[in-house]
Amino acid sequence: MDKVALATLGCKVNQYETELIREQLEKSGFKPVSFGEKAGLYIINTCSVTEKAAQKSIELIKKARDRSSLLVVTGCYAEAEKEKLREMFPWVDLVVGNKEKSNIGNIIDGNGKNHQEKQTCIGNFNAHNRAFVKVEDGCNQFCTYCIIPYVRGREIRSRSLSEVLREMKDLAEQGFKEIVLTGINLGLYGTDLNPEVKLVNLLKKAECLKEKIRIRLSSLEPHLLSIELIDFIAQSSWICPHLHLPLQSGDAEILKRMGRRYTLEDYSRLLRKVREKIPSVAITSDVMVGFPGEEESHFSNTHRFLQEMKFSRLHIFRFSPRKGTRAYSIKPHIEEKVKKERSKLLRDLGNKLSQDFASQFLGKTLTVLAEDQPDTESGLLFGYAENYIRILFQGEEELKNRLVRVRLIEVKDGTALGKIVNTRSSMSLRAQAQQSQ
Ligand code: SF4
Repeated sequence: MDKVALATLGCKVNQYETELIREQLEKSGFKPVSFGEKAGLYIINTCSVTEKAAQKSIELIKKARDRSSLLVVTGCYAEAEKEKLREMFPWVDLVVGNKEKSNIGNIIDGNGKNHQEKQTCIGNFNAHNRAFVKVEDGCNQFCTYCIIPYVRGREIRSRSLSEVLREMKDLAEQGFKEIVLTGINLGLYGTDLNPEVKLVNLLKKAECLKEKIRIRLSSLEPHLLSIELIDFIAQSSWICPHLHLPLQSGDAEILKRMGRRYTLEDYSRLLRKVREKIPSVAITSDVMVGFPGEEESHFSNTHRFLQEMKFSRLHIFRFSPRKGTRAYSIKPHIEEKVKKERSKLLRDLGNKLSQDFASQFLGKTLTVLAEDQPDTESGLLFGYAENYIRILFQGEEELKNRLVRVRLIEVKDGTALGKIVNTRSSMSLRAQAQQSQ
């Protein structure tokens, strides 16, 4: 049997798409193996959201040289730099753009002849204990720094409610306990469907699965988070009280130059509203440092704003110019050294905010999805609670991949420790939530 090794960089949407390819190839007789192993076919699903992601994509392509009889490169870097990639790496056999990605099996198998049906749904999620379900593709927002609308397309393409629900049911039946709904711009889900639907409609339909799974929403653009959606999450114990709302900058002027569609006042008003309705909510965010023209005063404003917003976790990115975007030509660029220093300051702040957030839950019992690998440093089991606190705890092997009730007993130096109080994973999520109140 031919072996295929797949590697993925970037977002949850890319990871979902790798799973689609993997399952399609498995059906055609390929045996998936890890990327380090010898295989006849290597597929690299690249990313180009930042320069760092593009560099990592290049490194992987170099690594795969001479190891395979067939090397396929796909994803956002392949889409953005098709010609450059062919020039730099003439040994790459196939460069497949994002639109053709879901058809890779046919392209390889039949030299482009569609003798196998396009894979549209996944039935598993390799090597993960939570499954990502992509519901939407494309973004039409054109933030000035972002390459995504150019490599993913500006048209919004949402999957039908019925297809998404079928996939969620299949994954629940496979035993997945958490599904993360994801999209290139998740908040725009359904705006292109006829009749139009909203993300909240999808959640309402998925309520039939509430005894089996919990749902987490991936990144949502703040201006697209509706009150209806907040209200629905507030009354649903099976939807994780966790919202990832990318802020990008806490300075009004930089935010405007980034082309973001909200003001700082809008953002803080939204957070107040969310916290009023869902008091235990975790709000995580993305912040970019070193946008062109970001002076010390702009950066201080961001630092202060982040402190005020009391995020539970921060992802810090350094700006990198992406060719074709409006910010590519905005000057002056910020020195790498300064960007690194600013990243470090915000990462330190992020750690402190995470510690403060987790400390509020000391003595409380949370529902943790136990990962299937132990924590590498301590050897203890660990998992993420509904509010995304990463908790270490002592427990038996059999708890892996199960929802476990854990009381938070210590939060120290960025580590949260818990103690198991109940291991009955068969208990409904609603019952578990009620029990903890
Ligand atoms: Fe990029 Fe802005 Fe669209 Fe997000 S909303 S994918 S940052 S263009």
